[in-house]
Amino acid sequence: MRGREDRLAEKAAERGLDLMLVTHLVNVRYLTGFGGTNGACVCGPEARLFLTDFRYTERAAAEAEGWEVVTVEGDWLRGIAERLEGKVGFEDDHLSVRSLGKLDERVEEVDLTPAGGLVEEMRRVKDEAELRAIAAAAELAGEVYSWVLERGLRDRTESDVSKAAVARMRELGAEPAFPPIVAAGPNGALPHAEPSEREIGDGELLVFDMGAELDGYCSDCTRTFAVGEPGDEAREVYGLVGRAQEAALEAIRAGEHGRDLDAVARAVIEEAGHGERFGHGLGHGVGLEVHEAPRLSKASEDVLAAGEVVTVEPGVYVPGAFGVRTEDLVVVEEDGVRNLSGLGKDLRVVE
Ligand code: ZN
Ligand code: ZN
Repeated sequence: MRGREDRLAEKAAERGLDLMLVTHLVNVRYLTGFGGTNGACVCGPEARLFLTDFRYTERAAAEAEGWEVVTVEGDWLRGIAERLEGKVGFEDDHLSVRSLGKLDERVEEVDLTPAGGLVEEMRRVKDEAELRAIAAAAELAGEVYSWVLERGLRDRTESDVSKAAVARMRELGAEPAFPPIVAAGPNGALPHAEPSEREIGDGELLVFDMGAELDGYCSDCTRTFAVGEPGDEAREVYGLVGRAQEAALEAIRAGEHGRDLDAVARAVIEEAGHGERFGHGLGHGVGLEVHEAPRLSKASEDVLAAGEVVTVEPGVYVPGAFGVRTEDLVVVEEDGVRNLSGLGKDLRVVE
């Protein structure tokens, strides 16, 4: 089987590059398996160089299989520059203008060309091991949800609930993929609210968005719970978001456009008169990063392929009152999806 480094070399050549310089650490990890905090790859038809500093020489030799490990001493960018020649692609999404300027000062007769997104494209379709890792992260986050709910939500602060969830996640051996969102009542109407010291009140909806990171791979899930009876309007919106999500889940399969899938969910919400209140995209890819390609949104130009992992997360946010979001993580398959989010979706009234 061809390794990821071979596929990158091929992609670089297709773009007319002699070499590809990969500096974004997540991409470096994807290509090499190296889990340390300083490394870069120089990859081309004849080159498989993994650059790091003395702290990581041994670790890199053990982890970065198929790569020639080069230990850079002193000036990091000079160490990279010395290995570059010809037309060299760099990751313009990640390399800062300042670092690029310094790199440019240190090279001679090298044509540095923006070539961002090459590794991100490769990362879209997951292999079996990656799918297992993501599924395990999703399952672990599911356990954390159950644990938190068993302890109850009423009269606790958002920040309390969030901290308890993070602590539980760490006990189970994972890290949060992002700081959990725990947003009750009117705070739930802010899609990216930070957990506050406000107590969760009776009859409020609670938007709870959480993901785990396990072995480098992330999960992402949102459920909206009711703390005591939330009333008819909240129940109606909850049902609406559920129908929008269901419609999108039924439409997803390989070959579908991210833009069209967003439109499927959006149409359901618009028909009910809440179009203005669904202010974000339907979903995003998840893998080594919690937000990655492809995108399911109005502006997306992505076409889904089997083996991609995406979220499906419509929401309706009623300013000053409450928010509802339901988010599942699914694997795209040829003729549908495999849902990795095990939690039920009937409105759960928690005490
Ligand atoms: Zn989320
Ligand atoms: Zn998400």
